[in-house]
Amino acid sequence: MSATFRIGVDLGGTKIEAAALDHAGDVRLRRRIATPTGDYAATIAAIKSLVDAIERELGGRTTVGIGIPGTIVAATGLVKNANSAWLIGQPLARDVERALGRPVRFANDANCFVLSEAVDGAAAGCACVFGVILGTGVGGGVVIDGRIVVGANAIAGEWGHNPLPAPQADELPGPLCYCGRRGCIETFLSGPGIAADHFRHCGRALAGPEIAVGASAGDADCQASLDRYAERLARALAVVINILDPDAIVLGGGLSRLAFLYEEVPRRWERHILSNSIVTRLLPPRHGDSSGVRGAAWLWRPEEMP
Ligand SMILES: [Zn+2]
Repeated sequence: MSATFRIGVDLGGTKIEAAALDHAGDVRLRRRIATPTGDYAATIAAIKSLVDAIERELGGRTTVGIGIPGTIVAATGLVKNANSAWLIGQPLARDVERALGRPVRFANDANCFVLSEAVDGAAAGCACVFGVILGTGVGGGVVIDGRIVVGANAIAGEWGHNPLPAPQADELPGPLCYCGRRGCIETFLSGPGIAADHFRHCGRALAGPEIAVGASAGDADCQASLDRYAERLARALAVVINILDPDAIVLGGGLSRLAFLYEEVPRRWERHILSNSIVTRLLPPRHGDSSGVRGAAWLWRPEEMP
């Protein structure tokens, strides 16, 4: 019997979510449980219980893709760079495949976001898509022709720790980043980054959403902070366009809700891009928080379904 659904799992630091998508991309079933933080064996068991529950309810056995907060090194099969510390150094792919009794595909959660938006989200129909997470940190990923570009070092699209391009005098040497460098894109464009920038300029401690509220109420300091943010994002994305030249850039994460960015940033990136007509579109995400499970499910393409 061929399955009429595929399963995507989003392994997060606080919850594990699984969803079954039909061929049109509609969610038929969704299950979530709390992540057994710190317990590797229980994490494997939790993934298995979610997949079992969905397959029992919908009937049939299907493909499983899993988005993880880190990457699996191809040469060793071990997890690296995960912010869920108990996964680091573990043979997660081998253990999940053994538990589920089938091959399973894994991808970084930022890459799952980009794949989700590229397959049937905001950038559906675009051949080359750059996706950006603007949240607690700044991440990114690249999808070309419906496939994640992982890269030789599994860091394709990870632009957050490049230095902010074309820095102004007051942006040098730049804030110290946890990675040990100064002036990383992340230190300006993450949620904590915009809050820290606002504090440096006017001495008021406000979070990103509060700065946006202040600006719309006519607060000049808040508006200035948003202007600096848009200008920095424009410079940072112009470099990506000069190298990758994507059809679309999709923003995700909490700061992607700043609606003014979608007009303001393309207006500002023009003077930093080596082309006098720029057709690259800057787009808000379509699937929001569902992108993790959706992108994981799409790790198996239609022609690869059982
Ligand atoms: Zn850094």
